[in-house]
Amino acid sequence: MSLRVQKQKRKVQTDVLVVGGGTAGFVAAVAAARNGARVILVEKRDHLGGTHSGGMVMMIRSMRHMRAPKGPDDKKVMIAGYESSFDDQQVVFSIAQEYIDRMLEAGSAWGAKGQATARQLFDPEIAKWMIERMVLEAGVDVWMYSHSTDVLMAGHAVNGVVIESMLDRSEITAKVTIDTTGDGEVCAAAGARFEQGDPETGYGQPLTLYFVIGGVNLEKTLDYIRNNPAEFGPDYVAAVDRLRREGKPFTVLPFKARIKEALRKGDYPIPHGIEKVDPETLTYMARPMFRNGKFRYDLLSHNLDMAYNVDATDRKQLTEATMAMRDVAVRMAAFYRKYVPGYEDSYLVHTAQAVGVRDSRRIVGDYTLTREDVLAGRTFDDGIGRYGSVVDVHDKDGKQSLMLAEVGGAGWFHVPYRVLLPAGIKNLLVAGRCLSADYVAQGCTRSQAACMMTGQATGTAAALAIRAGVEPRAVNIEELQKTLIAQNQII
Ligand SMILES: Cc1cc2nc3c(=O)[nH]c(=O)nc-3n(C[C@H](O)[C@H](O)[C@H](O)COP(=O)(O)OP(=O)(O)OC[C@H]3O[C@@H](n4cnc5c(N)ncnc54)[C@H](O)[C@@H]3O)c2cc1C
Repeated sequence: MSLRVQKQKRKVQTDVLVVGGGTAGFVAAVAAARNGARVILVEKRDHLGGTHSGGMVMMIRSMRHMRAPKGPDDKKVMIAGYESSFDDQQVVFSIAQEYIDRMLEAGSAWGAKGQATARQLFDPEIAKWMIERMVLEAGVDVWMYSHSTDVLMAGHAVNGVVIESMLDRSEITAKVTIDTTGDGEVCAAAGARFEQGDPETGYGQPLTLYFVIGGVNLEKTLDYIRNNPAEFGPDYVAAVDRLRREGKPFTVLPFKARIKEALRKGDYPIPHGIEKVDPETLTYMARPMFRNGKFRYDLLSHNLDMAYNVDATDRKQLTEATMAMRDVAVRMAAFYRKYVPGYEDSYLVHTAQAVGVRDSRRIVGDYTLTREDVLAGRTFDDGIGRYGSVVDVHDKDGKQSLMLAEVGGAGWFHVPYRVLLPAGIKNLLVAGRCLSADYVAQGCTRSQAACMMTGQATGTAAALAIRAGVEPRAVNIEELQKTLIAQNQII
């Protein structure tokens, strides 16, 4: 018997519709539900957490202010020890902290309850499960395998979105829709203006496909590092040595001498979109994974810039980049086996479930957060949270991998509510890496703690707007701030 699918057309209603169940989206959904709204959370993939979990970006940066490195050696020492640092004031709390505490209780994060480290390390696999627990406990209606493909508009107001899944095509109408797709998918479909890339070149930051290598004899690798202080820098070697002895997280930096040799022999993979790498400025990171209460010194996650000058909203470019990055991952694993002591018997365990996109669309909001706002640590009357992590803009041509600039003022800036309101569009909010910020400011607000904090503000604002019978732009800011403070955020 042959079967034919006739897609069911469905119409569904809700109060708050969150599109994108990633880093910002899960917090938005929890916040809206806890503030009394009926919530549907739509996610196109088979897991929640987005870049945070499926992307395997397993460090929340940063619930705290972070200082900038004083020079190249200091930068290496800082990178080595970020994950165990409780220095500097904490500026993000509430649902993000609650989530970290629950991960700690589950043995799936390193640290201490009630506070976060500068780069809070966690297990990305358990993260998926924990996020599911939190949204279900909050009473959120979760729709996975549901791709939002279009918007329902009435003039300039968004009334919901169209979802395509295998068996149905649903029109979900909502009093308020929140775009947490990372790429500003709903906003763009609704006709919101957006910017993309560095205004000077049009290109955005490089992409990464995280990968995990297993079967590593890290003690042997550490011996190599200890015996080669000239290659790594003596301060860095001392820092890693101490962190290992203290059982704290640490970061393994590139093996420059090994890379130089491999480059000479054609054994080192050149990232997609550039012609050469400079081992002197190259920065990438490998970290022992923390699973079930322990560091797994035979299992290291790797993060390196792998694809340059890619428009991540372009299917063709993204497909090419994805395949090229997987090729880089496989060839990096081979490089490690051949050149790096301790990796002789290692193997590629897996690449991340989701490609890591650092930036794509930046939606233009009622206000656009600027580089100056961030670096001066500006405050705003409509601030909905504080943020103080470093600005982290990866370069566009592989010459220098990281630019880390410090937030000034009191060590944090306010994220104003207006950056969450797409200009000219009603009933729509945006949070996460696609909120309204210029290229450099986004290098700060794209970090996970900021995504969670802005997600929480949108979910809360949506619930308050519905309760007051107004559109999100007309929410009483003082009430929004008081509600967030009552829920343990600081403003
Ligand atoms: C390689 C890399 C390293 C990074 N390192 C760090 C770090 O160390 N620390 C840190 O804090 N931050 C880091 N970041 C930044 C941070 O992880 C991300 O910016 C952040 O997680 C993005 O959160 P988001 O909620 O905006 O998007 P995501 O978490 O990506 O969530 C978007 C979700 O929307 C879904 N979606 C998209 N379109 C649709 C649609 N049309 N319909 C339905 N669902 C849809 C996606 O599947 C996804 O689940 C890094 C980023 C990258 C790429």
